[in-house]
Amino acid sequence: MCRHLAYLGPPVTLAELLFEPPYSLVRQSWAPRDMRGGGTINADGFGVGWYPGDGPPVRYRRAQPIWTDPTIAQLATVTSTSAVLAAVRSATVGMAVLDEAAAPFAEGRWLFSHNGVIRGWPDSVVPLAADLPVRDLLTLDAATDSALLWALVRHRLRAGEDPAEAVADTVRAVAAAAPGSRLNVLLTDGHTAVASVLGHALSVRQGPDAVLVASEPHDDDPDWRAVPDAHLVTATADRVRVRPLGRG
Ligand code: GLN
Repeated sequence: MCRHLAYLGPPVTLAELLFEPPYSLVRQSWAPRDMRGGGTINADGFGVGWYPGDGPPVRYRRAQPIWTDPTIAQLATVTSTSAVLAAVRSATVGMAVLDEAAAPFAEGRWLFSHNGVIRGWPDSVVPLAADLPVRDLLTLDAATDSALLWALVRHRLRAGEDPAEAVADTVRAVAAAAPGSRLNVLLTDGHTAVASVLGHALSVRQGPDAVLVASEPHDDDPDWRAVPDAHLVTATADRVRVRPLGRG
């Protein structure tokens, strides 16, 4: 069910990051090694967000398998960046397959992705959605659980909450309202990445000056470390912190 990754470090091409590794995100779209909770391929869309400089990210997303889009393959060879969030999507049954339903979701410098499902959606999270301004609900990117999850996190970010707390608080609240949900989310502003692990796999590879946070390792490098379930990762290019999601 969906695969995502974030990279922070020295500039690399999108091709080096997304296409060339032996178990790259592109390969994971048709041959993931670790799919849990249903789904066999991630062919319902993809998205890539990257930071071309000090400004806001550029985003490209489509409701088609990443391997069928010649544009991203071409862009990837000529685009270098030091921060990326990318995802391939396997739509949860019943949810829309649209460009706007593919991660990353974005606002300002923020890019966001969700790997998983909110159980009982939408009824289970109506009480949480009630905390959002009506405008936010009317302008969701798409009628999906992931778009609502982004609106909940974004609401906290707009209020000035620390990004790690915004993710942890939202994940805890949704998990309490909708038990059994799978809530692996990934959030970055191009400098820091925050990732939750709840119900799906996540691995981290930290080098001396670069970090990768990904649903599954994209190569056989022994430096990949699996993050335990119910944990929160906060990463910059040179530092990774892993802690329990906690109870708030
Ligand atoms: N539930 C989300 C969607 O349908 C994410 C799906 C997934 O992680 N496979 O878009």
